[in-house]
Amino acid sequence: MTTGKIRVRFAPSPTGLLHVGNARTALYNWLFARRAGGHFLLRIEDTDQERSEKRYERQLMEDLLWLGLDWDEGPEGLDRPAEGNFGPYRQSERLHIYAEHTQRLLNEDKAYCCFCTPEMLEADHKKAVAEHRPQVYSGRCRDLGPRTVKKNLDAGKPFAVRLRIGEEPLRFHDLVRGTVEFPAEALSDPILVRSGNDGQPGMPVYNYVVTIDDALMQITHVIRGDDHISNTPKQVAIYNAFGWPVPQFAHLSTILGADRERLSKRHGATSISSFREMGYLPEALVNYLALLGWGAEDGKTETFTLPELIQAFTLERVTPSPAVFDFDKLNWLNRHYIKQASPARLAALAWEYFGGFLPAKDEASDNVLYWFAQLVSLFAPSVDHLDQLMAKALFVFGVDPAAVRRNPENAEILAADSTRIVLGELASRCRSHTGIVTPEVFKAWMNEIKSATGIKGKDLFHPVRIAITGTHSGPEFDKLLPLLAQGAALNLGVLSVQDRVKRFVGV
Ligand code: GLU
Repeated sequence: MTTGKIRVRFAPSPTGLLHVGNARTALYNWLFARRAGGHFLLRIEDTDQERSEKRYERQLMEDLLWLGLDWDEGPEGLDRPAEGNFGPYRQSERLHIYAEHTQRLLNEDKAYCCFCTPEMLEADHKKAVAEHRPQVYSGRCRDLGPRTVKKNLDAGKPFAVRLRIGEEPLRFHDLVRGTVEFPAEALSDPILVRSGNDGQPGMPVYNYVVTIDDALMQITHVIRGDDHISNTPKQVAIYNAFGWPVPQFAHLSTILGADRERLSKRHGATSISSFREMGYLPEALVNYLALLGWGAEDGKTETFTLPELIQAFTLERVTPSPAVFDFDKLNWLNRHYIKQASPARLAALAWEYFGGFLPAKDEASDNVLYWFAQLVSLFAPSVDHLDQLMAKALFVFGVDPAAVRRNPENAEILAADSTRIVLGELASRCRSHTGIVTPEVFKAWMNEIKSATGIKGKDLFHPVRIAITGTHSGPEFDKLLPLLAQGAALNLGVLSVQDRVKRFVGV
């Protein structure tokens, strides 16, 4: 009984941070649901009790919401109530449901109790390897008579529950890859419930619970990573055993690093929270993840906001070939969105990178807030991600003249005779000027020094810039000078141009 509505789910295991591969899976599910006016479900797959942690569950909810991927149904968390009529949405709260279903399969003889001990299975495995046979279950317990089964159960013998697989090959249609087929013998009789202690059933396995949940939650499309392709025939066999309709599948390609190995921490940041900490904007990450295995119909558009993606996204345009994660392209998109972002938003995001130089944000005066937004606007066009701002803007908060003099990059300029002359002229003007050094004042000074000394161009400007900023490149003086002047009035320890030059020349 399907509702006729598209229903998809994102089903992470809270055993680690949400990484780009899973975030892309979530995004494609979300886009597919939003475009179709369907439902996007969040289901927490926390049956691995040892590795599942609440903090990861919270973090992944935060990361999804940060990316803009809200769910229509899911468990409570982050001050959101549980939503949807198909819950609970945490597998650890659904164990009774799985147990009822196991009983049903056993009653219908679609599944059976397997009393093989780990030692027996290990011996079977070794024998199969030695005889070059596929390593599949021998079928030893497949046809135990009901009396034997009862005797074993009464004796409290540990048992697993296995699904009885038929002879037919298992085939499913994948929206990204077409028809995929597996021979039945490759599956053997998969375990549904692991063997437990004291004659009690143990934990149900992933393939089993995911199928029960997808069926009961009326999932119409299973969109997930291609690491689950080999699990799919087992899941199809479970749908068949229950007589449930099989959903459509779409398996997304693997994400590789530049060396074409599976993307991992070795390649750089991979978790959504680390990209967030580095100052990537969510719209840049979402845009980049969308392009990682999907392309626009016109074959060229590369910048998409979330609403634009909802309009443009189709599973038909998802490619089965592996996607290579390109940090340069992500940076390009991030720069694109940084340019579009308002100064106030960038300033709010960048505040934390300037800890120690700024007051707590909620204690900052409007003047400080405004000034900092100017600072961020000045430097943001030169960074790939916002955590690079601090290094670019550090000189605004002060430079150590001794360190500037020691910097080998400044050595040649500082050693030149013309530099001594230029800085002497500049310092004498700074000593006698009590007002603000506006861009106009500064321009007039430069012209005067040029006519008085005949020094011009780089020989004139590089020493001046080093004295004021510590390096010979940086933002235009027209924008920088007002920032320094306003900063000097704010009690943040920012020095005026005069004080900078005087300290640098040692007067
Ligand atoms: N918990 C599984 C995972 O994180 C879900 C796989 C699925 O979508 O079926 O890989």
